[in-house]
Amino acid sequence: MQTLTLNNGIEMPALGLGVFQTAPEETKAAVTAALELGYRHIDTAAAYGNEREVGQAIRDSTVPRDEIFIETKIWISDYGYDETLHAFDKSASKLGVDQIDLLLLHQALPSDFDRTLAAYRALETLLTDGKVRAIGVSNFMTDHLTALLDATSVVPAVNQLEIHPYFQQHAVLDFDDQHGILNQAWSPIGGITFYPGYGENRRSVLQDPAVTRVAGTHGKSPAQVLLRWGLQQGRSVIPKSTKRARIAENIDVFDFELTAEELTALDALETNRRGGPEPEAVTLADYGRVIPEA
Ligand code: NDP
Repeated sequence: MQTLTLNNGIEMPALGLGVFQTAPEETKAAVTAALELGYRHIDTAAAYGNEREVGQAIRDSTVPRDEIFIETKIWISDYGYDETLHAFDKSASKLGVDQIDLLLLHQALPSDFDRTLAAYRALETLLTDGKVRAIGVSNFMTDHLTALLDATSVVPAVNQLEIHPYFQQHAVLDFDDQHGILNQAWSPIGGITFYPGYGENRRSVLQDPAVTRVAGTHGKSPAQVLLRWGLQQGRSVIPKSTKRARIAENIDVFDFELTAEELTALDALETNRRGGPEPEAVTLADYGRVIPEA
């Protein structure tokens, strides 16, 4: 498995299994399959409601804990210094681990940025105390990052963002590159382009003719081409599936290479249309919900 080195020297497997929208009762099987198939990195979140099942799969696996990179995220309802320290305890307890490899703030709270900063300071404390090996953010735009860097001391190791050929966020990617923040793609195979409710004229990037053409050239699937597109640009990718065959397909991406022309053809698919929530508009009133105790 190819690894990426975070800005504090920690090695992270470049490709992981995502478990957003994986029902708790399906999570253990998906994570177990992934570990059997060679995955060593799992991305979950307090808000996904399946940290406990991720932890069960890891504990029951024959793969040693220290060979598995566990990434999770603090939800906005738990922002604030003491609240975020407690949120770590909830997540660690549900996962059944003493230490989390990478802990992220799931979203900025632009309307209450002081609370976001307090949450990040709690992550810094957890890092100093060795409770987490690396800290980072998700869905932070350049102005959120600028404000964060001005007010805190640890540069986030990772920014996890919606990135697929239909929505590439170049300004944030460039900012992250300039500051040593690793870009990690959520919806790396365009999952959000076929979520229910994505909108009218919904079109999956997996079915885009430019993608299927490149896939045909290499004898690979569209999902594999999209994962290569991310990996070859130095990004981490965390595709989600609950199906063993697809989990296997999504990690079988290290035996081919896209050409510069193919990468450019995929870049040309940009629509500038975000699938996920507008980061500036995320508020506790609209998105806050209680994360249960462990
Ligand atoms: P993905 O791009 O990973 O796509 C997932 C979708 O694609 C599912 O519907 C899955 O269905 C299907 N699928 C998986 N593999 C294949 C394949 N080989 N061929 C065809 N279809 C396939 O999207 P996600 O939005 O799930 O993003 C991945 C991960 O990123 C999440 O699980 C989560 O960990 C993270 N994430 C983070 C967010 C954030 O705000 N930080 C937001 C959203 C996601 P099936 O399961 O039936 O195979």
